Amino acid sequence: MAALISGLSTDAIRANLERVRAEIEAAVERSPVERPGGEAGAVQVLAAIKYVAAAELPTLAAAGVGLVGENRAQDLEEKVRAHGELFEWDFIGQLQSRRVRLIVPHVRLIHSVASESALRELERHRELARPGLRILVEVNVAGEDGKAGVAPEQLDAFIDRSPVPVAGLMTMPPLSADAEASRPWFAALRELARERGLRELSMGTSQDYVVAAEEGATIVRIGTKLYDPGPVADGPSD
Ligand SMILES: *Cc1c(COP(=O)(O)O)cnc(C)c1O
Repeated sequence: MAALISGLSTDAIRANLERVRAEIEAAVERSPVERPGGEAGAVQVLAAIKYVAAAELPTLAAAGVGLVGENRAQDLEEKVRAHGELFEWDFIGQLQSRRVRLIVPHVRLIHSVASESALRELERHRELARPGLRILVEVNVAGEDGKAGVAPEQLDAFIDRSPVPVAGLMTMPPLSADAEASRPWFAALRELARERGLRELSMGTSQDYVVAAEEGATIVRIGTKLYDPGPVADGPSD
């Protein structure tokens, strides 16, 4: 992985966050989809913090970030120990079954449950979990080979076997440079959630969060876009 980002500026992050929130609000307003999460506008912006050193987290909080998502169990532990009280914490990384017990005491939501072994570990370590822990099931909506995620046909059986309440669904659509390419996959995830009465839809990253918001996301997971330092002060103006 690349070096962690440091030297973040509160003002730049606040400006990026405000822009993202305004774009999401506009997307929700113009988009006619029925949101499983209920009322329009209730889209949470989760800051993906895998790129960010623990020492930078107070800067994120000062800029208005309230919900963060970490990808690695050890980094989650380190960052919660340093700054646990600043945020609500989610886990968004690939869930390795032997690390489940390290994650469950700290998080509100695990976005990325996709294997039988993870379900078994959730059952085994249930008493360690934070009260109110819920999960999202990661769905491989496009049926990509080698990609994490439960196949849509297996979703019902998987949800039935979960020892922890399932709040909704999450997906990572096929990589594409074109945000519009994600739209049919986001719409498919929304439909899977709607059919099952599931409220939460975790979908959209820096690259396609506007499309995700249009298609009914209730949580978008944003990294790079938040940490963009912005235009340099003495650069060309246009
Ligand atoms: C890193 C990450 C993100 C954020 O991606 P960006 O492109 O940096 O916005 C979202 N979801 C998951 C699962 C991630 O690992």
